[in-house]
Amino acid sequence: MVSYEVRCIECGASHDPSKPAYACSSCGNLLEAQIDEAEAAGDLAENGYSERALSVWKYREAIPVDDPSLAISLGEGGTPLIRCKRLEEELDARNLWIKFEGTNPTGSFKDRGMTVGVTKALELDMSVVTCASTGNTSASLAAYAAAADLDCVVLIPEGKVALGKLAQAMMHGADVLSVKGNFDQALDMVMTAANEMGMYVLNSVNPFRIEGQKTAAYEVCDQLNGVSPERLYIPVGNGGNSAAYWKGFKEYDSMDFASGCPLIRGIQAEGAAPVASMFSENSSELVPVDEPETVATAIRIGNPANWKKTVGAIRESGGSASTVTDDEILEAQRFMARLEGIFPEPAGAAALAGFMKDLEEDLVDRSAVVVCVSTGHGLKDPDTAISQSVKPRTIEPTMEALSRILGGAD
Ligand SMILES: *Cc1c(COP(=O)(O)O)cnc(C)c1O
Ligand SMILES: [Zn+2]
Repeated sequence: MVSYEVRCIECGASHDPSKPAYACSSCGNLLEAQIDEAEAAGDLAENGYSERALSVWKYREAIPVDDPSLAISLGEGGTPLIRCKRLEEELDARNLWIKFEGTNPTGSFKDRGMTVGVTKALELDMSVVTCASTGNTSASLAAYAAAADLDCVVLIPEGKVALGKLAQAMMHGADVLSVKGNFDQALDMVMTAANEMGMYVLNSVNPFRIEGQKTAAYEVCDQLNGVSPERLYIPVGNGGNSAAYWKGFKEYDSMDFASGCPLIRGIQAEGAAPVASMFSENSSELVPVDEPETVATAIRIGNPANWKKTVGAIRESGGSASTVTDDEILEAQRFMARLEGIFPEPAGAAALAGFMKDLEEDLVDRSAVVVCVSTGHGLKDPDTAISQSVKPRTIEPTMEALSRILGGAD
C-alpha cells in the first residue's frame, strides 16, 4: 500500500485518514489525498505496471487504499481514446481525440471514483453509503454498493434526473429519495445527514473518489504514448472531475511516466455557469447560481462543491472556463453521434461544444493535440436523444411500400 496523507487544500492541515472526513476541521475547506509520488513511481515501475491492461487498477500502486486486492471492481476505466477523423474534417482541426467515458460499467466516469470510494467505505467499516446526485453518481454508487453489500441511500432532485440513470439506481436496489428541490439543496442535506447519522458520503467532496478519477489522465497519457495532450476540454459541474484530471496529469508527469501537462478548458452550460463567470469577471469568489438550468442535467449545478479545487487547477494549467448554450451542446451531441458513432449524453458533448466554439472564435491552434472528455453515455438520457431525432416512419409490410418510401421505382 502506498503511503499517503489526507490534508486540507487551503491550510494544509493533516487529517486522520482512518476517519471519514470531507472538510478541514480547522478552516472548513475541502480535503485531498496526496500519495507519496516517489514511492508510487518506484513500485509501479518495479511491478511492471506498463504491461498491464488499461484500467483504473492498472495504477493500483498510486491509489491510496489499504489493499488493492480487496477492491470492489466492476472493470472500470480502460475507456477508448478515439481519434476523430471525420470531426477533424468537418471542423478543420488536425488532432482531435475524444476520451469516451460512456463505456464504463454504469456508463459514466463516476465509476472510476466509486470503485475507490466504495472500497474505502469498507476499509472504514461504514455500513451505509450515500450521495446527492443529478443521476450518474447515484447510478454508479448504487451498483458498487450492491457489489460491496452496503446499504445505499441516494437523494435526487425531483423530476430532473434522466430516465436511464433513475432506472439504474432503482434496479441496483438503492433507497431512492426524490427531493423537492435542486441538486445543491440535496447535497446540503446529505452532508448534514452524514455527520448526524454516520453515513459515508460519496459525492466528489470525498477525496478518495478523486483518486480514482485521476487515473483517466494517466490513461490519456498512456494512450498518447507518454505525452500529454496540449489541451483538455472537460465539462464542469461540481468541478471534481476537472480537478481530478489536473491532479492526474501533474502526478504522471512528476512520476516521469509522461511528459508535460495540458492546458485545461473547463466548459459549463450557459444556464449553470458560476465557475465560467469567475473567469469572465476575473473574480476570486464564487457567486452561486440560484436556479441552474440546462439540458445537460449532469452539469446542472449552481453551487459547485469543488469550485476552489477546479478553479485552482484550471488557473494553474494556464487555462480558463467558459460557456456553451444548450443548442451548442445538442449540436455537438449530434456531431459525435453522426460523424463518429459516439453517443454521449448531453453533458458528455459539452466539451466538444466548447472546442467547436473556440475554433469558431479562433481561440485555439487548429493543429493542437486536443482531447475532449465525453463523460457519460447517451443511453442515459433517451428522451433528449429522441426529441431531437427524426421519428421512425410507419409503413405497410409490403415491398411496394418500402420502395415507395425509399424513392425507388414502383
Ligand atoms: C458528474 C458528471 C459531470 C460533472 O462532473 P463534475 O465532477 O461534477 O464536474 C459531467 N458529465 C457527466 C456525464 C457526469 O456524470
Ligand atoms: Zn484547513
